[in-house]
Amino acid sequence: MSTTTRNKIIFFSRLTSTIFRSYKIKRFITSTMERKEYFNAKNWALLDIEYIQCTRTHQCIRKLYILAKNGYTDLQLECIPCEPLHKLEKRYQKAFHFCQSEIHKLPYCPEGSSLPCSAAVERLNNFIKNNEIDLVFYKGGDIEKKVCDKLHINSFNIENFMNELEKVYSHDPYIEVNCYFTQLVEFLL
Ligand SMILES: [Zn+2]
Repeated sequence: MSTTTRNKIIFFSRLTSTIFRSYKIKRFITSTMERKEYFNAKNWALLDIEYIQCTRTHQCIRKLYILAKNGYTDLQLECIPCEPLHKLEKRYQKAFHFCQSEIHKLPYCPEGSSLPCSAAVERLNNFIKNNEIDLVFYKGGDIEKKVCDKLHINSFNIENFMNELEKVYSHDPYIEVNCYFTQLVEFLL
């Protein structure tokens, strides 16, 4: 291969890669802007749930906090699990003790005013309907997604933005939601 031909090949391959790179950056910026526009047009809320696995198929909502886009309309619930702790299968009792010491630090039953786990989804549904929320953000855990699917409400995992958001080291729904809320609002600006 002659030097001229080799130089031509090098020139064209560099040109192609520059064009491709700028196309990719442009696509990324466009899609991020489109995504932000889409989310900003929504009347969103941010939700976090701590649950207790009571059987293989049932996760009891133990504590829930949801904050609407306006930053002050909210709902906090503490719920009584469907079964007393001693009635759970041994492995779920163990799982609860592990989660309690390592994750949520919550007693099995709430101390103050509370409602049965079975009523939590309905209360959440009322909150969503009364405030005309059309998108629910949540972080990670699939219980939030499952609940939203059950209520036929769009949901979006903010872990998709985690490159932009700083991780919050708390498992208290109130703290977690408030910390991510501020970051989310700034990110969507
Ligand atoms: Zn339950």
